[in-house]
Amino acid sequence: MVTFTVLGSGSCVPSYRRSAAAYHVRWSDGSLLMDLGPGALRRATEAGIDWSSADAVLLTHFHMDHFADLLPYLFALKNTPGLGRSRELVLFGPVGVVDVMTGLAGLFGSWVRMPGIPLRIMEYGDGPVEIGRCRVEPMPVRHSRGALGFRLEVGKVAIAYSGDTGPCDELIHLCREADLAVLECAATEEVLANHLTPEEAGRIANEAGVRTLLLSHFYPSARPDDVLARCRKTYYGTILLAEDLQQIVLAEPPK
Ligand SMILES: [Zn+2]
Ligand SMILES: [Zn+2]
Repeated sequence: MVTFTVLGSGSCVPSYRRSAAAYHVRWSDGSLLMDLGPGALRRATEAGIDWSSADAVLLTHFHMDHFADLLPYLFALKNTPGLGRSRELVLFGPVGVVDVMTGLAGLFGSWVRMPGIPLRIMEYGDGPVEIGRCRVEPMPVRHSRGALGFRLEVGKVAIAYSGDTGPCDELIHLCREADLAVLECAATEEVLANHLTPEEAGRIANEAGVRTLLLSHFYPSARPDDVLARCRKTYYGTILLAEDLQQIVLAEPPK
């Protein structure tokens, strides 16, 4: 069984209702975080998630609405009284994540370089990423330089996450027959370059044969009825609109 929790269904625009992009995935003996936008840690505590035990943090790209809580996360790992964690944390991101972390360590010093636990920094191209039983397939998507989407496979359960992207073949590949595809849908009010409209997200899900489509990354102006109706024009499966703290439980299909 895999539990997917939305920690942030919003965008860079401050919103009481929606935190910026962040998701948590938990399986029987492991867990990871995907993106850590501002507000992610607070939402994780609100959801009752044991944020401190994540085996990995996967970053899709370096826009602040996707990774601004990374430093508070490392700081909290080091300074939360009684945590006592000694297990390694994998930090995986686009090409450049090593340079980003080196730069941040230059600014903030030892707690970035030595957050009190072994930190293994990996970037795209370093080879396959396996976080315990979770196989991670990263793939470049159409957004900022080096931006990635992810496909996670835990046993027979497959989850795809777009990060930020415009429509591209790579995204269809990541989403192929996924049990859950989490696609950004930032372009609801106007066409935004390198983001998805509801129709485009639906088209991707349809072509990839996705079982459940979760639309996320909404600006405050997004109107749920409108988003749903527009996505329904191109996709006939189950469509969910993300809300902060929403949980989706995925069970492995019977053998
Ligand atoms: Zn972005
Ligand atoms: Zn974004």
